[in-house]
Amino acid sequence: MTTAQEHHHVACPYCGFGCDDLSIGIRGGSVDVSQIECPKARAGFDVDDKPSEPRVDGKPVSYEQAIDVASTLLRKAQRPLISGLQADMSAVKRALALAERTGGVLDHSKGDGYSVQVRVIQEKGWFAATRSEVTNRSDVIVLLGTQAVNAAPRFFEQSAWPAQSFLPDNLKNRQIIFVGDEWSSNLGTSPQGKKVQHIKVAKKDMPLAVGALRLLWEGRTVPETTAKTLPLDQLRALTDTLKKSLYGVIVWETAAFIDAYGIDEAEVLVHALGQMTQQASDTHRIVGFPLGGDGNIVGAGQIALWQSGFPLRIAYQKDGRPYHDSRAYDGKKLLADGDVDALLWLTLFDAKDSPPACKKDTPSIVIGRKDLEMPYEPSVYIPVSIPGLDHAGVIVRLDNVVSLPLKALRTNDMPTACDILDLLTQKL
Ligand code: SF4
Repeated sequence: MTTAQEHHHVACPYCGFGCDDLSIGIRGGSVDVSQIECPKARAGFDVDDKPSEPRVDGKPVSYEQAIDVASTLLRKAQRPLISGLQADMSAVKRALALAERTGGVLDHSKGDGYSVQVRVIQEKGWFAATRSEVTNRSDVIVLLGTQAVNAAPRFFEQSAWPAQSFLPDNLKNRQIIFVGDEWSSNLGTSPQGKKVQHIKVAKKDMPLAVGALRLLWEGRTVPETTAKTLPLDQLRALTDTLKKSLYGVIVWETAAFIDAYGIDEAEVLVHALGQMTQQASDTHRIVGFPLGGDGNIVGAGQIALWQSGFPLRIAYQKDGRPYHDSRAYDGKKLLADGDVDALLWLTLFDAKDSPPACKKDTPSIVIGRKDLEMPYEPSVYIPVSIPGLDHAGVIVRLDNVVSLPLKALRTNDMPTACDILDLLTQKL
């Protein structure tokens, strides 16, 4: 008879929103995903516990052989890229140690959005909310170009329309205003029957809308050409609503801005939103809540800061000195331009976080979950167990204030990423 186990209060590492209330059943080593209502979490937990084999050039080998070949490739490299970094804190620490040892560049697969936000914080700063403040304190939530559920599928259930709040009046009176193209009717209404207000702005016009909001906030005139393109009266009313709010929250997705408008325009937008939160702070409480933080990038950034003194996108010199440049050490660009000569891709959470393409002579080492989608056969592939499922670990939530302990829900004979990274480092 198959033994069944039920785990409660399980933390989920499959997006940065950091829910820790899942109930998960394990039957015969597999997760009963039918209990999980979040599609991202369901996809992440849906992997069986059967061991998988390492490969070198596509051929099955032992773990020892794979580590031997990987260490030889890293030893030969002058400047390897160590990236992906979708891992729990312990594994990220070891990846950083490997970068330090090899004179490598350290980046994360979600490094673009992170770097935009780091630059905005470094240059001007912003006021940001924690998830708990959004859930409990906000009386107005503005969704700017995002319906939130792509980034954090449980945003409405957990934060916008939670069943309970420490401040029930805020919840009862909470207004949610979506500024963007199409609003999905599937998202329904609040438990109190309130609908989301929709201010329709075409995706291409969102940068104009952000600019107009900032001008309206400052009491300045919106240029006529911009005003003609936008529903200006509604944006003016939105500004008034925010000005009257006790705790207004502006939600956006930096990564979605980058996808839609490119990295430079996205940076201008995030900068403008950060400035609005700052300008408001003298007389109001308006805060930002940028969705994202997938793959424990916030935790990886913290480790980079603790260990090197810099946020992510670090290049170590051969003597171990770290340098930080969020534009110059963009891992995917360095790889595409042939400015690194080996890739080590570490990814334990998102099975679609595939290693990026390498130039023909650039060897690739992938340490990842066994169901990782691979667009090409890497030089070395080393399957490992998954934190939060096969072993315990820690990640950091998107708002940077909560470390989430991940539980071991079952046993698994595969080594952990830490085991492999330790062995690799010892062999260098
Ligand atoms: S919203 Fe994010 S953290 Fe919450 S269960 Fe879904 S994937 Fe996990």
